[in-house]
Amino acid sequence: MENTANSQQQAQQTQKSQQVKRTYTKEAYQNGFFGPYGGMYVPDVLKGKLEYLAEQFEQLKNDRQFVGEVNYYFRQYIGRPSPLYYAERLSKEVNSRIYLKREDLNHTGAHKINNTVGQILLAKHMGATEVIAETGAGQHGVATATAAALMGMKCKVFMGQKDAERQQVNVYRMKILGAEVVTTEQGTATLKDAINVALEYYVKHPDVFYLLGSAVGPHPYPSIVRYFQQVIGQEARRQILETENRLPDNLFACVGGGSNAIGLYSAFLDDETVNIYSAEGGGEGELLYKTASTLVMGSPLVFQGTYSYCLVDPDNNAVDTYSMAAGLDYPGVGPEHAYLKDSGRAQYYCVTDQQAIGAFRKLSMLEGIIPAIESSHAVALAMDMMRERTDQVSIINLSGRGDKDMGREMI
Ligand SMILES: *Cc1c(COP(=O)(O)O)cnc(C)c1O
Repeated sequence: MENTANSQQQAQQTQKSQQVKRTYTKEAYQNGFFGPYGGMYVPDVLKGKLEYLAEQFEQLKNDRQFVGEVNYYFRQYIGRPSPLYYAERLSKEVNSRIYLKREDLNHTGAHKINNTVGQILLAKHMGATEVIAETGAGQHGVATATAAALMGMKCKVFMGQKDAERQQVNVYRMKILGAEVVTTEQGTATLKDAINVALEYYVKHPDVFYLLGSAVGPHPYPSIVRYFQQVIGQEARRQILETENRLPDNLFACVGGGSNAIGLYSAFLDDETVNIYSAEGGGEGELLYKTASTLVMGSPLVFQGTYSYCLVDPDNNAVDTYSMAAGLDYPGVGPEHAYLKDSGRAQYYCVTDQQAIGAFRKLSMLEGIIPAIESSHAVALAMDMMRERTDQVSIINLSGRGDKDMGREMI
């Protein structure tokens, strides 16, 4: 992607961001807010449930038995810790030092399982008898169905009819794992309609636990998802100190809702020397209607229960986003990222489908690692920014493996 308009734009953004005064402070994190972002903007019927969830979560994360149980399943079931792998041939190619945090090696092949196993244990300890989730491309649905099977818990996954038709293999997976897939023909029969139906069900059934898939939505979900994903950063920090004997200069991650990114970043936010770079789904270009780059192109807005950035049309309605990476194809983003952007602590870039495909092929051929197309966005950004930066040490969060992304357009 050298010499493209995009890389010039990125160079300018980098220059600008170096001039931005960093106003990030830990004190901005309070009661479900990240600076002005976050909060619980929901109808009263939901408020009570979410406040109870927040209370139970606060208690359980300080409970040694609960934490021990989470750690047990992380190790024995997911296969943690995941390696921090020095990508020697990739490093040679760009002439810099690049490590990959191998979340693609987790059971089920991505970071999502950290969160679903964590939340299913939360559900169990809260006495829930059933979990529900909504899913677009099916990845979160499969991760939830997996965790539900592990705990022998009843599981319903809500899905738009159109998505279900497009994602038949994931529908089979969920059914094989024992979940019930509930489809809806409402609206456009896609993710946002599935969310509405799931919320209706949630309000009507008091003993149901809503298992949310990313660091988005109303408080306490962004904090809960962060808590279960922060293991990524904790491990990476320990691992890089062991091998390099110092902190990295740069972190790279892709951002859909923002959970794998927050997982990695959380352990380094207070280390001022560590730069943080995030890749959003740029789709086919940089047109508002052909992108999923929420923080680069969107505006602050209350959307789906939280105050954060959102991609909206001129009437302030959330737009139908586009990215070939299903995991990045979402008009909202977690509120902590909105704060990290505004405070200058992290930078956000638009990476197009074509750039991601280029990185997908490069990493496959150079390292024998086929990355998820989502993760490939972070690889593309890192390769672009770190070219000839011989003195720099970087960590890329390889959020998932690419088996799901096989198709002719990748060759
Ligand atoms: C779902 C998914 C993402 C995007 O979700 P985040 O919450 O932003 O992490 C990224 N990579 C993979 C492999 C995914 O499955």
